[in-house]
Amino acid sequence: MDIAWAEEAACRGLDPMIFYPSTDEEAEQAKEICAGCPVQTACLEHAIDEREHNGVWGGATERERQRIIRRRRRQRALARASAG
Ligand code: SF4
Repeated sequence: MDIAWAEEAACRGLDPMIFYPSTDEEAEQAKEICAGCPVQTACLEHAIDEREHNGVWGGATERERQRIIRRRRRQRALARASAG
């Protein structure tokens, strides 16, 4: 697993608890930091690949990552259906 991108993370040195809010509503501070992070996409893809179940990664909460995964599955299924 290549996580060299983490060297450039905007959250380096910050309180990790910011990224583990109790509710999605409390995730705003983390999301604001992620929005300005140069490695946001790599971080999000890492969390999706590794099935991270907790915390804000790449600006997305667990619930939001699940939505992304479901949407990608639907898109792949549609692409297979239209190709086949
Ligand atoms: S996107 Fe957010 S959680 Fe991911 S490395 Fe950047 S600041 Fe940290």
